[in-house]
Amino acid sequence: MILTRVDDGCIHLPELGLWLDARSRRPASDRVFISHSHSDHLGSHHEVILTAPTADLMHHRLKGQRTEHVLEWGVPRDFCQGPRAYRVTLLPAGHIIGSAMLHLESNGSTLLYTGDFKLQPSEASEACSVRPADTLIMETTFGRPEYVFPDRRKIAADILDFCQRNLALGKLPVLLAYSLGKSQELLKLLAAQSAPVLLHEETWKCTRIYERYQHQFPPYTKLKDTPGATGIVIWPPHRLNEIKSLAGKPVAVAIVSGWALDANCKYRFKADEAFPLSDHADYLELLELARRVAPKKIYTTHGFSTEFAQTLRDLGYDAQALDRADQLGLKLGV
Ligand SMILES: [Zn+2]
Repeated sequence: MILTRVDDGCIHLPELGLWLDARSRRPASDRVFISHSHSDHLGSHHEVILTAPTADLMHHRLKGQRTEHVLEWGVPRDFCQGPRAYRVTLLPAGHIIGSAMLHLESNGSTLLYTGDFKLQPSEASEACSVRPADTLIMETTFGRPEYVFPDRRKIAADILDFCQRNLALGKLPVLLAYSLGKSQELLKLLAAQSAPVLLHEETWKCTRIYERYQHQFPPYTKLKDTPGATGIVIWPPHRLNEIKSLAGKPVAVAIVSGWALDANCKYRFKADEAFPLSDHADYLELLELARRVAPKKIYTTHGFSTEFAQTLRDLGYDAQALDRADQLGLKLGV
């Protein structure tokens, strides 16, 4: 049996001294699995388990020294915590470059923790690989039935059309997207057209790290090096005000996010249009993941975790939300 608890809002396997995507600094005696390098999954820890791209991106985003156990895809590594041994295997989660699911074996039980994941293939991540487990801890960001994304090729065509239409009007098309993951997918998508592509500096830095891992992109430059240039801009959503002063011409703004399925999304992001290209699983993919893992127990976390746990129970799974206060002290494994 592997005990799990939620401490300080973080998933904790106390018998193994192991935390999953903890945000705040954990005790020096403990290890932390970092599933990927989005900032809401990073923390300043003493000892971490992660993939090589996640380590590279973490070095860029986080100062300080730590012990890093860098694992290759699918190659198990054995760890000990006092008398307790456990075996970790990292599997591609399909979310962004280096994003990993953690497969754990200990004392005859198996556990799969998904981190952020996506089953559909995309240009900016390794293809997701799922393994059966007794216990599944899964993210459920889009865990309601209204979140079913359209075909990615259709969304990509709509984004290209948005860019061409606004270039023809003499405007600067601005695609609002997180600097790590979504932006690199958009950049690859823009290889299908000929206008120059201009990036925010942070997006530029993340793209350079992608290139260390054999990812190839069409030509791109930093917008700050070419103010007033014509082209298509990829820009972080929280920096929208800056682009308006740098552009030197009218802008047409589109938010690129799974939340684009919400009718108010474009107003929330102060955008003219919204496109639902996501690096998360949609509702149907969440259900498909549960089917593939075929667990005896499911814990849901993030987003619509309570609703999705109920959906799973209605389908006959033993499921409950992990990020609720009344879920403390749960037993994992069989
Ligand atoms: Zn993420």
